[in-house]
Amino acid sequence: MLVVKFGGTSVGKPERMKKIAELVLGMPGKKIVVLSALSGTTNTLVRIGEALLAHEPSTALREIAELERHYQNFIQELYASDSHKAVGEEIVSRYFSLFRLLAAGKFDDRSYRELLAQGELISTELFYHHLQERKINSRLLPALHFMSIDENHEPELEKIADRLQPILETMQADIIVTQGYICRNHKNEIDNLKRGGSDYTASLIGAAIRAEEIQIWTDIDGMHNNDPRIVKKTRPIAELTFDEASELAYFGAKILHPSTIVPAQKYGVPVRLKNTMEEKAPGTIISSKGTRAQVKAIAAKDDITAINIKSSRMLLAYGFLRKVFEVFEKHKTPIDMISTSEVAVSLTIDDDSHLHDLLEELKTFGTIEVDQKQTIICMVGNALAEKEGVLKEVFAALGSVPVRMVSFGGSHNNISVLIDTAHKEKALNLLNEGLFEF
Ligand code: ASP
Ligand code: MG
Repeated sequence: MLVVKFGGTSVGKPERMKKIAELVLGMPGKKIVVLSALSGTTNTLVRIGEALLAHEPSTALREIAELERHYQNFIQELYASDSHKAVGEEIVSRYFSLFRLLAAGKFDDRSYRELLAQGELISTELFYHHLQERKINSRLLPALHFMSIDENHEPELEKIADRLQPILETMQADIIVTQGYICRNHKNEIDNLKRGGSDYTASLIGAAIRAEEIQIWTDIDGMHNNDPRIVKKTRPIAELTFDEASELAYFGAKILHPSTIVPAQKYGVPVRLKNTMEEKAPGTIISSKGTRAQVKAIAAKDDITAINIKSSRMLLAYGFLRKVFEVFEKHKTPIDMISTSEVAVSLTIDDDSHLHDLLEELKTFGTIEVDQKQTIICMVGNALAEKEGVLKEVFAALGSVPVRMVSFGGSHNNISVLIDTAHKEKALNLLNEGLFEF
C-alpha cells in the first residue's frame, strides 16, 4: 500500500484538488491519501482562535465570514453538478455553523484545538465528495478514530497500528482519504501534531501499516542542497539517507516536519518527496541507502541561543558536565551543539522559553555568557568523516566569516558551525560556492 500526502498548496485551489485526484488515480494499488487543510486555512483558524482567546469576537467573526466566502467559491468550481454543489454547500454551512457556535461559547484551549482540527476535516470531506462525484471507489477514514498521542504529546505508533489494521481490512476501496495533522490526546480530546504535522501523520500511517512507500507531495521539487530563499543556485537532491534527511529537516529545511522521518526509518519505509506542480520531476527519495562521504546539503537554523559556562571547578574534575546537563533536563530544554575546553563549556539551545531559570541555576557553576540571535549552519552527508580534507574545504569556503562554535564527529553525518545570524546569508552563499559544483 502507498501512503500519499498532499500539502495545503496542493489542495488550495479547486483545479489543484481535481489534479491530485488524477495523480492518485494514476498510482498503482491501494492508497491512503492524507490531506492538509487548504492553504491559508490553518493560519486563519489560528487568527480566529487567538482573537477569541483575547475576547475579540468581532475580529473572529469577520475572519470567519471571509473564510466562508472562500469556501463557497471553492465548491462552485470543485463540483460539476448541481447536486454536488448542493452537497458542497451543506458541508460548508455545517462547518461554518460550528465555527460560529465555538465563537459564541466559552472559548478555551480545548475549543481552540477543536477549531484548528476543522481545516483538515473540511478539506478531506470536500475531496472525498469530489471523488464520489466522479464515481471513484473511495472511503473517508476519520483520523480521530485511530491517530493518538500520549501525555508527552508523543504519537502512540503501536496503538495506531492496532486500530488501523482492522479498519483497513474491512474498507473495500482503492483510495482511502484521511486527515493529516489531527489526533486525539491522552484525555481523548481533539488535538494536533503541531504545525506542519500532516507529513508526520503520513509517516506514522506508513510505519503503522508497513507501507511500500510514503509520498509527500508539496510545491517544491524535493529537498534542495541549500536554502533556495537565500542562495541563488540550488538543486534538488536525488537521494538521501534517513539520517541525512532527519538532520536537514531538523536544521531548517522547511520542506518536511522535523519528526517525519522517525517512524518511517523505524520500519524502513522509504519516503519520497514530490512536486505537485511538476509531477515528472524526480524529487527526492529518502531511504536507508545512500552514497557516502559527500556533502549533500547545507541547512541553517536560526534563533539559536549559545550559553558559555566558564568554571575553574571543571579543571580536572569529573561529574561537572553531568551537573550542567541536569539543569537542562530539569527545565526540559534540549541541548543541540556542545563544545568543551578544560575550563569552559559552550552549548546551544533553540528553545529559550526557560532561559531565565536555566541561567539562574547555571550561575552557581561559574561565569555565564549568553549570545542570542545565533545560527547553526549544518553540512549534511552520509559518513562525512570519510571524506578527506572535508574540514579544510568547509573552512576554506567560509573564508572570513567568524565562527563561534564547531561540532564535528558527534554523528557521522554532519558538520555544524555556529555563527552570528548577521553572517548567515554570506556563509550560506560562500559554502554553496565552495562545496558544490554546478
Ligand atoms: N494544516 C496544518 C498546518 O498548516 C498541518 C499541515 O498542513 O501539515 O500546519
Ligand atoms: Mg508542510
